[in-house]
Amino acid sequence: MLKPQKKLEKVLIANRGEIALRILRACKEMGIKTVAVYSTADKELMHLGLADETVCIGPAPANLSYLHIPAIIAAAEVTGATAIHPGYGFLAENADFAEQVEKSGFAFIGPKADTIRLMGDKVSAKHAMIAAGVPTVPGSDGPLPEDEETALRIGREVGYPVIIKAAGGGGGRGMRVVHREEDLIEAAKQTREEAGAWFSNPMVYLEKYLTNPRHVEVQVISDGQGNAIHLGDRDCSLQRRHQKVLEEAPAPGIDETARAEVLARCVKACVDINYRGAGTFEFLYENGRFYFIEMNTRVQVEHPVSEMVTGIDIVKEMLSIAAGNTLSFTQADVNIHGHSLECRINAEDPATFMPSPGMVKHFHAPGGNGVRVDSHLYSGYKVPSSYDSLIGKLITWGSTRDEAMARMRNALDEIVVDGIKTNIPLHRDLVNDEGFCKGGVNIHYLEHKLANQ
Ligand code: ADP
Repeated sequence: MLKPQKKLEKVLIANRGEIALRILRACKEMGIKTVAVYSTADKELMHLGLADETVCIGPAPANLSYLHIPAIIAAAEVTGATAIHPGYGFLAENADFAEQVEKSGFAFIGPKADTIRLMGDKVSAKHAMIAAGVPTVPGSDGPLPEDEETALRIGREVGYPVIIKAAGGGGGRGMRVVHREEDLIEAAKQTREEAGAWFSNPMVYLEKYLTNPRHVEVQVISDGQGNAIHLGDRDCSLQRRHQKVLEEAPAPGIDETARAEVLARCVKACVDINYRGAGTFEFLYENGRFYFIEMNTRVQVEHPVSEMVTGIDIVKEMLSIAAGNTLSFTQADVNIHGHSLECRINAEDPATFMPSPGMVKHFHAPGGNGVRVDSHLYSGYKVPSSYDSLIGKLITWGSTRDEAMARMRNALDEIVVDGIKTNIPLHRDLVNDEGFCKGGVNIHYLEHKLANQ
C-alpha cells in the first residue's frame, strides 16, 4: 500500500451519535484535528469530550441544528476547519450543502455536488447506470408519461405487478405497487401527488415489481482521479418497513459469475461518472440476477461489515481522498476474508417498535475475539427523543459465517443496556432463526416472521 502524501488539517464532523464518534476515531488515528458540532439536546454526546473543539449549532429540532447549513458553515469558519464530513442521514446527500461547503472554501468529504444531484434523482441515476452497463430493473425508460394510453402501454410491456416510484423519493417513501392494469392510472396520480408534496418533485417512474428479491449492495471507493475499487458485497435483506435491521458481508449464496460481473460493472460506473469518495450501489437480487435500484453517495450505517472482511478502513480512505490523494490500494490488495455480521441496536420497544428514549442506567459492551462495538453509549447517557433511535452497532467477524454467527450469539448474550428498551431481544431471536441461519432470505422474510409471531 502506498503512503498518502496529503493530509486534511482539521475536520468538522457534521453529525451526531455513533457515526460522529466513528469519524472522530478515524481523524484521531490519522493525526487530523476535529471539530464536533452538537445541538442543545446533545450536550452529553460521547465524542464531544474527545474532540479538539466543540460548537453548539442550535436547538434540538434537526432543521435548526444538524440540517441548518448556515450554522454548520459558520462553525467551520470560526474554528478554522478545512473540511467537513457529513456522515450519513442529515445533510449527507444534500447536493446544495456539498456545493455551499466547497464554495465556502472547505473540502466536502464525499462526492462532488453534481454527482450527488445525478444520483439523488432516481431517473437520472438509472440512466447513468444503464449507460455504464449496470443491470437495472426493467421499466419505463425515464419518467412515466402523464398520457394515460402511453402509461398503460408501458405497464403492459413491463408486465404486472409493477411499482411506481418517485424520482426524488427516499427512505422507503413515495412508492406504490400495482397488481392490475385497471389500478395503474389512479396509483400513478396518487404517487405523483405524494411525491410533489414530500420531495418537491412530482416526477414518477415505473418498474417491474420483483416479488421475492434479496437486497444485495456493493461498496465502492473511488478517488475522482480515475481510480476505483470495490470492497465486495453486503446482504441487507433483513428489513422492517424498508429499514435495515441486520446486515452481513459477503452476501451468502450468490452466483459467482453474476457477482463478478456486477462488481466489475460498479467499478466501471465509478470511473465513468468520475465518482469521488465512498459509495454504495444498491441492488435487488432475484433468480441469480442483479437489478440496480439506487446509489447512496455517502458512508453507510453498515459499512463496518465490509471493513471487517477486507481489513480496509473506509472512513480513513474517505479522509485521504478528500485531501487529494489517489486510492491508497488497488483492487489486487482487496481480499475478502471470512464473514461479518452487524446488528443495529435501536432504542425501541422490541414488540411495538416504538422509540424508547431515556437514561441508560447501565451499559456493558461485549468483547472477545472478532467483536466490534460502534456505539456512543455509556452508563448514565440519556438517549434524546429528538433523533433516530440507533444507539449502536454490534459487529462480529469470523473465519466462516457460522463462526461470525456464534460470536454474535455470545455478544448478544453479553451486552447489557439497562434503563431503556432496545431491540436486542429481536436480534437474539434472529441469530437463532432457522431460515436466517441457513442464509439467503428475501426482503419480506423479517416482516412475515414478525406477522406470524
Ligand atoms: P428508497 O430510496 O426510498 O430507499 P429504493 O429504491 O432503495 O427506495 O427502494 C426501497 C425498497 O423498496 C427496496 O429495498 C425494496 O424493498 C423495495 N423496492 C424498490 N423497488 C422495487 C422493485 N422494483 N421491486 C420490488 N421491490 C422494490
